Amino acid sequence: MAKVIAVFNQKGGVGKTTTNVNLSACIASKGKRVCVIDIDPQGNSTSGFGVDKDQLEYSIYDVMLNQIDIKKVIVKTEYDHIDLIPSSSELAGAEIELVATKKRETILKRAVATIKDNYDYVFVDCPPSLGLLTINSLSAVDSVLIPIQCEYYALEGVSQLMNTIQLVKTSLNPKLEVQGVVLSMFDGRTNLSIQVVDEVKNYFKGKVYTTIIPRNVRLAEAPSHGKPVIYYDKKSKGAEAYSELAEEFIELEEDVI
Ligand code: ADP
Ligand code: MG
Repeated sequence: MAKVIAVFNQKGGVGKTTTNVNLSACIASKGKRVCVIDIDPQGNSTSGFGVDKDQLEYSIYDVMLNQIDIKKVIVKTEYDHIDLIPSSSELAGAEIELVATKKRETILKRAVATIKDNYDYVFVDCPPSLGLLTINSLSAVDSVLIPIQCEYYALEGVSQLMNTIQLVKTSLNPKLEVQGVVLSMFDGRTNLSIQVVDEVKNYFKGKVYTTIIPRNVRLAEAPSHGKPVIYYDKKSKGAEAYSELAEEFIELEEDVI
C-alpha cells in the first residue's frame, strides 16, 4: 500500500511544485509506482508533467465537488510509473464551494484510500494556503514533506506551518508526521544560504535531508517544456540533486520498513 505524502509549506515560491514534480519523477525512474495529485489551483505540477489542463475530461475538482470516482480522473503521463491526478482552474473556487459540503475535510482522504493499493508512493502538491484544500491534503496523507527555500526569512511562517500540522494531527489525522525537510534553491556562493542551512537544521533537528537542492536554471526551465528535469537535462546539477534526494528518500523509507 502506498505511503501518501503532502508537499506542503503555506509560503509560495519555496519549491513545493519543483520538488513534487522532480522528486516523484526521480523516485519513479527507480522503478517505484508513483501517483502525483495536483490540488493546487495553479496546476503547475499538472503542466510540469506536460499535461494540458484544457484537454481534460475530469480533474481533482470533480473528485472534490462532483463525486466523480478518482480512478476516472487518473491520467497516464508519458513517463514510466507515473500517474497524475490533474488540477484545473475551477479548483480556485473550490475553497468556497466546499464549505457547504458534508464531511468536507476528508473528501480527498476517502478518495485516495481507493487507489492506495496501486502505488508505492502518492505525492500531493498543496496550494500555498491554509484553506480546505490544504486541510483535505493534510488529512489524506501519512506525512508532510516540507521544502524550505535558502533565503532571507526561510523560517518565517514555519511555526505557523508546524501549528497547522499539529492542529490536523489532533483533530483529523493523529498519525500525521513530518517526512522530511528539503532545503531548496541553495546558492553555495552566499554566506546567507550556508547560514540558512544551519538555522533550518537546528530547528528541525534530524529531519533535514542531507541532499540539498541547488539553485539551477534547468529546474526553472524544465516546466516550460512539460518535463521533469531528469527528462529535460539529465546531466544538470538540478537533475543530479533530485536523483540523489530520491535515493536518500527511498533509503530512509525502506529502513523504516
Ligand atoms: P511553489 O510551488 O512552492 O510555489 P515552485 O516550485 O513553483 O514553488 O518554485 C517557484 C519558482 O522558483 C519557480 O519559477 C521555479 O521554477 C523556481 N525554482 C524552484 N526551485 C528552483 C531551483 N532549485 N533552482 C532554480 N529555480 C527554482
Ligand atoms: Mg506550487
